[in-house]
Amino acid sequence: MTDIKDLEGYVISHIDEAIEKENIKIYYQPIIRSLTGNICGREALARWESPEYGLLIPEEFIPILEEHRLIHKLDCYMISRICSHYNHCLQRHDPLLPISFNLSWLDFELCYIIGVLNEETEKNRVPREMLRVEINESVLSLDNSFFKDKLQKLKDEGYEIIMDDFGSGHSSINILKDYSFDELKIDLALLWDGSERSKTIIGSICSLAKSLGISTIAEGVETKEQEAFINTAGCEKMQGNLFVEPLYYWDLLSFIRDSGLSYEPLNLRDYYDTLVKWDTGKKSGISCAIAEADNGIIHFLYTNQEFLKNIRSLDIESFQRLEDIINDASYSLSQELSQLVKKAGKNKEPQVMDFIIKGNYCIARVGFLAGASGKTAVEMEFHNLSMDKNVNHLERINDALEGVYSVFDRVVGFDLDMDRLWILYKETGFTERYEGNSFSENREKYINSEIYPEDRQRYSQFIDFKNAKKRILSSGRNFISGCFRFKTANGNYIWREQYIVLARGGESGHRFLLCTKEVDEKQLALIMQLSSFIDSGASGGFDGQDISDSALWKSIVESCPVGLFWKDRSRRFVGVNKAFLDYYGFESEDAVLGKTDEEMSWHVDPYPFKTDEEDIINTGAVIKDVRGKCICRGENRDILVNKAPILKDGKIVGLIGFFRDITERLIQYDCIKEESFTDPVTGVLNIKGLMDSVSRFINAYDDNKCDFALIAVNINRYDEMKESFGEDHLNRLMRLTADRIKSLLGSTSVIARSAKDIFVILKQVEKNEEGSSLMQNISNEIRYLREVDGIPCTIYTSAGYAVFSESAGPESLYSLAVKRMNDQMERIRRFTGGF
Ligand code: C2E
Ligand code: MG
Ligand code: MG
Repeated sequence: MTDIKDLEGYVISHIDEAIEKENIKIYYQPIIRSLTGNICGREALARWESPEYGLLIPEEFIPILEEHRLIHKLDCYMISRICSHYNHCLQRHDPLLPISFNLSWLDFELCYIIGVLNEETEKNRVPREMLRVEINESVLSLDNSFFKDKLQKLKDEGYEIIMDDFGSGHSSINILKDYSFDELKIDLALLWDGSERSKTIIGSICSLAKSLGISTIAEGVETKEQEAFINTAGCEKMQGNLFVEPLYYWDLLSFIRDSGLSYEPLNLRDYYDTLVKWDTGKKSGISCAIAEADNGIIHFLYTNQEFLKNIRSLDIESFQRLEDIINDASYSLSQELSQLVKKAGKNKEPQVMDFIIKGNYCIARVGFLAGASGKTAVEMEFHNLSMDKNVNHLERINDALEGVYSVFDRVVGFDLDMDRLWILYKETGFTERYEGNSFSENREKYINSEIYPEDRQRYSQFIDFKNAKKRILSSGRNFISGCFRFKTANGNYIWREQYIVLARGGESGHRFLLCTKEVDEKQLALIMQLSSFIDSGASGGFDGQDISDSALWKSIVESCPVGLFWKDRSRRFVGVNKAFLDYYGFESEDAVLGKTDEEMSWHVDPYPFKTDEEDIINTGAVIKDVRGKCICRGENRDILVNKAPILKDGKIVGLIGFFRDITERLIQYDCIKEESFTDPVTGVLNIKGLMDSVSRFINAYDDNKCDFALIAVNINRYDEMKESFGEDHLNRLMRLTADRIKSLLGSTSVIARSAKDIFVILKQVEKNEEGSSLMQNISNEIRYLREVDGIPCTIYTSAGYAVFSESAGPESLYSLAVKRMNDQMERIRRFTGGF
């Protein structure tokens, strides 16, 4: 180290010059996401390249600057450099990462540091959530309401706060109680000595932070041993020389490029932040893992020792091998597990499934954790119950049923006294929905959702367990059987033969086995013959036999007062009735035939309709009284929609639906005011409706990578115009403005009025530039409005847009667009000297 006395004088007298000559440099140290090993942030650290002393490290000049109350000069400079560098990265399309930087507690006394931050971020278009302020923990031990207020203000302004060097102060735990932080930085140099004791302390700090909703990062990670420990302790991020020491930006870029490290995409930041809140500590002793389905491919982000023990008992030596098996469609386990993960992701509800793997009875429980951009993360518990020697009865059942398994693909037990089903064995995705619940209560629901409509009555008689024993005994065998069409996972129906077998040992004769298998081709032909015989027999002798299906259909279609439509499997209209044509004001059905909803563009937001319909076609779902919005002859209307699959020979060939307009009813009951998503003045969506639509666009983005733009348009001088024209007049002006935007964009975009003077447009875009030209067109369109009810008026607008892929989430997307809109307004204001 340099001569302390000399250095002190040098630092004090040269700090201004060093700043002016840009001799203070920012070095960056990457921050690594423990789960993925990807770079998810970086910390900015100051270095002084002194012509006299060479490279000075913070330790050599920061204490001096603090002692002489000059530290704010360095920190203001650092903030300004960090922000302009961020802007530079943005222009260069370099990967953008959240940046942490250090502030000294003195900064809050010596200058208005929050104002400096606001000014620099605004000037450089840095989203505030991309900046993370690190404050040293030891300072906060001073019980000081001054800092409390300042830190709260920083948070309120939208900056994240990290407690640096946790463990360095005297009452670290108290600070957790008194201050609200986003992240806790655990300095391994302070807490780690490799002993079990220090590991327990660090593990408990992580767990404690998680339970308080605070995330954790370990700094000073130097060894592989520390890295492995940090991973198992559930600490979310890491930083240290093990990965790389702080480097000058360009050196860091080359290092990252050469080392093959990857950056975490910004749009996955929320996803991983949610994921890492999962507390591994709470799961100790339970076999569990975090699995991620990334566009259909499953891999494990985390597995604990118990989990590995369970899979090894099945001769699967590692979680990588399990990944291979799951991702190889030729294994039946693969389909089962990926289906389970998909389902948990879709329903956001825990899913349970049992399997027989190599004669072992296993159970997997899967619960949704987070989802984004085609990724779904789930927690997975996996138990090999046969491994547990206490479950002897299961082994016995398995032995006894071994022969049965080879014939039947599904075996279910039923106890009449307990009115319960329990699944003993299955090979295909038979859900546990009915297991453990009262069977008689769920019987109708089960039949209606699982059995082909034409077979339901026969099946209902067959599955009546109350008289099953009598029927079995009178059959002269130990079972009765029947063939029925059962629903498959994709909504189609296939023929299966089901047996009800009187279980041995059930003395009262109240226990049965329900065994199901697929029917072979020859049998199927016979069944088809039989069923056509049954079908024709069923309608014979009925008085109305002159009424044919087609005559009945024709009269329903013609007389039905509600709009009726039917579509093929690709969701194209095949037919509509007269009420439908009248409602939309079409002359003939030619206007719609062969088209999809999107091509008709009559929904403000077509995505919910599309997803519902795909669900019907792919899974046979039935949609009942779902509320939606459609544009009908220029008006935004509320409708209730019902849709169901059209089945032919057990296969889904299309869908049929009808809808009712409930706009008037809603107005009548006055609910529209309370929970409506529309702005009463203009009829376009309000802020609530906008955010709801944004989430739909995000779903489309997650599913299909369709990027979209949010354009914010400000109607300048709103309050001034209100004063000059009066409220009624201005409302009419807003309505006309909304109409102009609507007529320009048709129904392919979502239009909203998010504040009295802000219109917002959402539109899918392929390229970022599309947003820009659209924004220009909209602004021009509005400015062409020259008069309202004969009174001349001129509207000035400012606009800004952002695309979702560059934002950190829905709120950030909106605030980014509004911020850019405000920036434009500010530029115009400066240019025009105030407007
Ligand atoms: P910090 O904020 O805790 O930063 C982490 C320090 O640990 C850095 O030292 C970094 O180089 C060092 N480090 C990183 N990985 C390892 C590792 O694996 N092992 C060990 N032993 N150390 C590692 P640096 O850059 O010398 O900074 C020291 C401190 O100076 C910082 O500690 C921070 O409190 C302060 N500082 C740095 N830049 C600024 C600044 O611009 N303003 C203010 N107010 N303080 C700053
Ligand atoms: Mg720091
Ligand atoms: Mg630190």
